[in-house]
Parts: sequence; structure tokens; C-alpha cells
Amino acid sequence: MRFLLVFLVVLVLAWRWRVWRETRRRNTPRTKTNTPKSIGMVACHHCGMHVPVHDALAGTLGQYCSVAHRQHCEP
Ligand SMILES: [Zn+2]
Repeated sequence: MRFLLVFLVVLVLAWRWRVWRETRRRNTPRTKTNTPKSIGMVACHHCGMHVPVHDALAGTLGQYCSVAHRQHCEP
């Protein structure tokens, strides 16, 4: 009988701890709100590799991933 009482006390304490932990997790603000925005990607006119817009090199025929590919297509 005594063992059953101890077991029930441990069970109730574990349950209360889980509830406390769950409510604490819900109440804490998420720190991952500053996820990076999606970056615009463009395909290289020569090889088709996708590069970020701010890294792409503009040419008369399109966007390029590197100077070499731009020179290859637009001498
Ligand atoms: Zn390329």
C-alpha cells in the first residue's frame, strides 16, 4: 500500500512537471522569427545554374553566373 502511494505521488509530480514544461515552452517567445527571406534566383544564360539575383552578372542576353560565362556568350 505504501509503495502504491509513493508511486502515485511520483506519477502526479511527473505529470505536473510535464504540464509546467509545456506551458513554459508555449509562453516563451520564439527566437527563430528572423528567418531569412527567400532570395530571388536566376538561371545562368550559359550553363543554367541558379544563382542569387544579387550575385548574378547582367548581360545583354540575360543573367550569368560568372564573368567567363558572360564572355563566352557575349564576346
Ligand atoms: Zn554559368
